[in-house]
Amino acid sequence: WTNTMRQFNVVVLGAGGVGKSALTGESTSLSHHHCLPSSPVRFVRDVFVENYDPTIEEQYHRPMMVDGELSSLEVLDTAGAEQFTSLNEVYIKSGRGFILVFSLTQEVSLKEVESLRKQIFRIKGSESVPIVVVGTKSDLVSEREVPTTTIESLANRWNLPFYETSAKRNWHINDVFEDLLRQMRLRYPPD
Ligand code: GDP
Ligand code: MG
Repeated sequence: WTNTMRQFNVVVLGAGGVGKSALTGESTSLSHHHCLPSSPVRFVRDVFVENYDPTIEEQYHRPMMVDGELSSLEVLDTAGAEQFTSLNEVYIKSGRGFILVFSLTQEVSLKEVESLRKQIFRIKGSESVPIVVVGTKSDLVSEREVPTTTIESLANRWNLPFYETSAKRNWHINDVFEDLLRQMRLRYPPD
């Protein structure tokens, strides 16, 4: 047993309004005490919050037990105005893993993911970067614009994992963070 818990910086990127903050959740003291929530929810918070301030950027800490190993994710929920500044570049440099978020109800938001992916590869100077792509709002079935077939073909072409999630219903949120943590552990093995 070692008490040095490894930490990984994760950056959540995507167009405004796609559900980045809902997915990431809000930091509470609960997140520091419960290492193994049975159904960890919208990542750190246990409820779906309807309205986050879209201009606020926040960092959350979440210990996660995956494959018998405890790690801490430092998750930066970006605010989405950074396309117009050099902030994206700063975020990308600081991140070890990335969650690229689009809304299943808004096809245009997938274009943003495509450009973010290229930006990450350029700034990192490598394509071996831990990334998970997340389509949100899967509960809004009748508003859906991005079919699963599109997602499957993109996932193949990009060779990246995609998840269809709902923060509102807490569908597949934890899968996203577990997948990314596993990728980061492989990419950045302990010394
Ligand atoms: P951000 O700008 O990417 O951080 O987006 P927010 O997390 O603030 O979400 C934007 C809007 O989408 C808010 O009104 C949320 O309540 C809503 N939203 C986010 N995730 C979901 C979801 O999974 N299902 C539904 N129905 N609405 C969602
Ligand atoms: Mg937000």
